[in-house]
Amino acid sequence: METYLTALGAALEQHLGEAAAPMRALSRERLVERPHGDLPRWLSALERLPPGPAPCDFARDTVTIGEPGAAGDTEALHQGLTGLIPWRKGPFCFFGEHIDTEWRSDWKWQRVAPHLSDLRGRRVLDVGCGSGYHGWRMIGAGADWVLGIDPTILFLVQYLAVRRYAPAAPFSFAPLRMEELPAALEAFDTVFSMGVLYHRRSPLDHLLELRDALRPGGELVLETLVVEGDERTVLIPEGRYAAMRNVFFLPSTAQLSTWLRRSGFDQVRCVDECVTTTNEQRATKWMRFQSLPDFLDPADPSRTREGLPAPRRAVMIARRAP
Ligand code: SAH
Repeated sequence: METYLTALGAALEQHLGEAAAPMRALSRERLVERPHGDLPRWLSALERLPPGPAPCDFARDTVTIGEPGAAGDTEALHQGLTGLIPWRKGPFCFFGEHIDTEWRSDWKWQRVAPHLSDLRGRRVLDVGCGSGYHGWRMIGAGADWVLGIDPTILFLVQYLAVRRYAPAAPFSFAPLRMEELPAALEAFDTVFSMGVLYHRRSPLDHLLELRDALRPGGELVLETLVVEGDERTVLIPEGRYAAMRNVFFLPSTAQLSTWLRRSGFDQVRCVDECVTTTNEQRATKWMRFQSLPDFLDPADPSRTREGLPAPRRAVMIARRAP
């Protein structure tokens, strides 16, 4: 962990200057001073993986690490990878061992990627980056530096499993929440927030935080759950939504466009809207808990089991007004 924290600290300092100090301190607290109780177990799973570096391909739908058969001890590889279950965001392939994650995150990337300003030469923030799957794809697309942030420590260890083989890739992961970043960074050319907004009790504050992380003229990529409707439509679930307790605001794309404009963005556009299928999100042997098929009404899959509209997601792109 110390080695990783040193590398993280250096990258934060290089790209963010003074703002790095509080981010380093909080990362150290979460990883060393008051770590998650399962961290030692996850780190020992990580240590079972074959040593790196190894050739990686981040430009394919499956983030691919090492050549099939080049792992040496395949049993140790398998034990290391299963020790990091549940794998939610992917897919990945380590030395020929395919990790069929709960989500086909490559499908989300396919919906997003054609609409992005060229990532080459850009500094990118990925808020709620999960395992880092999309961050690796951003590296594959030529980003100068990617900072992923996510408070879930298992996901950071999954990121470290890939980083072991690509230690020089300009992708850093800090175990932080968006609300914990220093105010008014104005440091990033592109900011992604995918799958996070509906988890926030205060969605407009989240949009303002995203705006403040961007340089003026920078690009926001916002992916979130939406409902059908006009500029007056927003759904706040009374209780759970698709079994999740922490879902708050589900706007229509028209209402969401208003939120974005009120939060200092212009050139707001919806580039994709689709219903999430049970092919995209489902239980696998790498994620054995319940998943989307269990959260829908068996008699009417256009509804969640709470009787609300089934998950529907939109991708919005906007510019921080210059
Ligand atoms: N961006 C990925 C993962 C979405 S899942 C994708 O689109 O596939 C949502 C993630 O956001 C989870 O990993 C969760 O740990 C993280 N998260 C939740 N609240 C957050 C916050 N306030 N700041 C940053 N990340 C957050």
